[in-house]
Amino acid sequence: MRGFLSAFVTASLLSTMLASHTIAQIDPVERRIVEYIDKNEKDALRLLETSVNIASPTEDIAGVRAVGDLYAKEFEAIGMRTKWLDLPAEMKRAGHLLAESTGTKGKRLLLLGHLDTVLSGEKYRLDGQTVHGTGVADMKGGNMVLIQALKALNSVGALRDTRLIVMFTGEEEDSADPIEVSRADMIAAAKRSDLALSFEGTVLNTATVGRRGASSWKLEVEANTGHSGQIFREGMGNGAIFEAARILNSFRENLGGERYLTFNPSLILGGTTVEVKDSDGSASGKTNVVPAKLVVNGDLRFISEEQKESARKRMREIVAKSLPGTKAKITFFDGLPAMTPREGNYELLRTLDKVSQDLGFGKVDALDPGDRGAGDVAFVSDIIPSLDGIGIGGGRNSHAKGESARIDTLPILTKRAAILIYRLTR
Ligand SMILES: [Zn+2]
Repeated sequence: MRGFLSAFVTASLLSTMLASHTIAQIDPVERRIVEYIDKNEKDALRLLETSVNIASPTEDIAGVRAVGDLYAKEFEAIGMRTKWLDLPAEMKRAGHLLAESTGTKGKRLLLLGHLDTVLSGEKYRLDGQTVHGTGVADMKGGNMVLIQALKALNSVGALRDTRLIVMFTGEEEDSADPIEVSRADMIAAAKRSDLALSFEGTVLNTATVGRRGASSWKLEVEANTGHSGQIFREGMGNGAIFEAARILNSFRENLGGERYLTFNPSLILGGTTVEVKDSDGSASGKTNVVPAKLVVNGDLRFISEEQKESARKRMREIVAKSLPGTKAKITFFDGLPAMTPREGNYELLRTLDKVSQDLGFGKVDALDPGDRGAGDVAFVSDIIPSLDGIGIGGGRNSHAKGESARIDTLPILTKRAAILIYRLTR
């Protein structure tokens, strides 16, 4: 989803990986998996090209479904059962693709990706090692890494008897409400799994053990109104605008600076009359009238449910201490949960780090959870240990025009993912 780093970073990612390219410490089966990935790079890029050239912005139900159908064929070709999970029609969303291997051995893994993109229209284009096109970084490149890794396991018979669930959501970029319905299948899949791996973009030589959640709030202030000459007087009080200023400044002074906690007042309208609709509005107020009304919209981002609830509690306490002649109320709206960096996630990271070093690709560190916004994995990371950010590398301009990624990261990241899944399912 968000905030990728520049191309030069990719160069150092690759140089770090390749520089530490020592003799791989892998067993013969793992070696054959690695060889399959080297031999089938063209096949992998063909799949990426086909998927990118199918436009699938969230609202394009047919486009999202077409990408799902493309991937379903790939999963069926390696013996996995697939199912399309429709969402209620009133949600105006495509639904999700589920693929499953129903063996009896090893850890039960839930593998996550999504079919939809934010924008549409930029076709697949290769320019040296840089691949361009809508969704290459977020996240058709990652979907391809996942599929290619499973195809490599299948090529050596290592997919047989595994217990894998792949869930590709069809509306990750603009998840449908109520979330309890649109994420019910994913949560059910997590409850019958032991670990989750999510293939959003890889950032440098890191993987993602935590991501911040996102939510929003609305502050509404009402105040006595009348001739401005009376402001601050007994009976009149301070007006809605000073009250709002007090509250916002108190938020900043009392909650600002807490690690991983941010809150952004994005829209403010105050005066005698105020109209606010979604992220738009108008206000009027003559200078000789004490303002009666004010509205602020904002977001609140956090690293855990505990941090979110504690911030909300402190914000409510600040709002309650109204200046004379005013009263205010704050309403909170849930958005996407946080992927809280728990010990189980770090343990998965250590397993990936060992795989990477065994392959001679160097260390894998934890990305700072503050560097990554909300993502689907957060719906399952409180249920099972989870790791994200193991998809395509070198991503740029996600959610924007000129989206691109680096194909020279693909063999390394696909081998890492394949051997990780192989070892976790032994
Ligand atoms: Zn994404």
